[in-house]
Amino acid sequence: MSNPLTTPTARVSGTAAPAQPSIAFDRVTVSYGRGKKSTDALLDFTLRVERGETIALLGPSGSGKSTALKALAGFVRPSAGRVRLSGRDVTDLPPAKRGIGVVVQSYALFPHMRVRDNVAFGLKARRIPKAQITERVSDALAMVSMSDYASRLPRELSGGQQQRVAIARALAIRPDVLLLDEPLAALDAALRQSMVIELQRLRDALPDTTMLYVTHDQSEALALASRVAVMRDAQLVDIGTADELWSRPPSSFTAGFLGGANLIGCTVGRVSGTTALVSVGDKMFTGSAPAPTRRWAPGTRAWLCIRPHEMEVTTLWAAGSLAARVTGSVWRGATTRFTLAVDGLPDQLLEADVTGRVEHPIESRVGVRFPNPTGVLVEAAGPTR
Ligand code: ADP
Repeated sequence: MSNPLTTPTARVSGTAAPAQPSIAFDRVTVSYGRGKKSTDALLDFTLRVERGETIALLGPSGSGKSTALKALAGFVRPSAGRVRLSGRDVTDLPPAKRGIGVVVQSYALFPHMRVRDNVAFGLKARRIPKAQITERVSDALAMVSMSDYASRLPRELSGGQQQRVAIARALAIRPDVLLLDEPLAALDAALRQSMVIELQRLRDALPDTTMLYVTHDQSEALALASRVAVMRDAQLVDIGTADELWSRPPSSFTAGFLGGANLIGCTVGRVSGTTALVSVGDKMFTGSAPAPTRRWAPGTRAWLCIRPHEMEVTTLWAAGSLAARVTGSVWRGATTRFTLAVDGLPDQLLEADVTGRVEHPIESRVGVRFPNPTGVLVEAAGPTR
């Protein structure tokens, strides 16, 4: 079985060395504070990112995402492990010497400087000749569609425009690696959506630029990343393409964090190829059993992962449905989310998204139909119900 933390290096002919990953975290640990008060914000973190890849570091608040990014940028020093850029060990190098572009949530523009001077800042610090600075600033502003705003001050721009300028400033130094730390978190929902499309465009326009994108928002990760690294409690939990993690979540944490999931404790029965019979209480379902990374031995306890949008709410006793009691109902515009207590599944509430505005009173009895095949099996690390 291949190590999921490594991706194949490029095949090269002759005696040339294999291509080095653009970014490599090698067992990096970062601790804040000292002695008893010390906390590990990042623990034994290993990750390789190939040139031109966009990787999302996805996880809840406090899981260590920003710390990983800061360790790469040089803003914090690892207490163990090494950080490499294209094979070069930069662990002891000051941030300015790493040649990385960084964009943070708060834009961090200089308020008294016009847009063009903000964008030129890093170039002047690098003593780039004046004529080149002018050209690079206008290229970078064009890349984020901000050419018409070069003479404005930051306070004369909207939040989204300020973030575009911050991105232009990071791009002006023409970095091989661009780090983005929750760049859209301060923007309102509609603007976030249009900025995601802008960032997709930027990513495609810069195929050789490696991007590390920190977010707690799974939709940004799915939209932008070639691979997603899921983090929890200072550690990497899972890594894979967005599609892999979504359709075959390797862990219950990733299943729940990426898209929300009903995780129903089950026992694996007969397995045939990538299909497994599973029992939930006294009922049998056919689940999809991801292969080939796992063997599903009969008798194993596992989770059956069903996404809320895959569940169907029917009338009570409709064919193929289970009886359930409505415990919650929230209209969300395009869908209504029901929380349901299903007969035979004690201590567990399931969520079902139904298109449109649908009304079922709390405590009313309905039917719920699982999809067929019924979800995907997820390995159970802890106890399943
Ligand atoms: P994330 O980016 O996933 O929200 P962070 O990397 O910012 O997480 O933080 C990881 C952990 O480290 C958290 O528990 C946080 O409280 C702690 N932490 C972050 N920065 C500092 C700091 N400067 N001093 C002490 N603790 C910190």
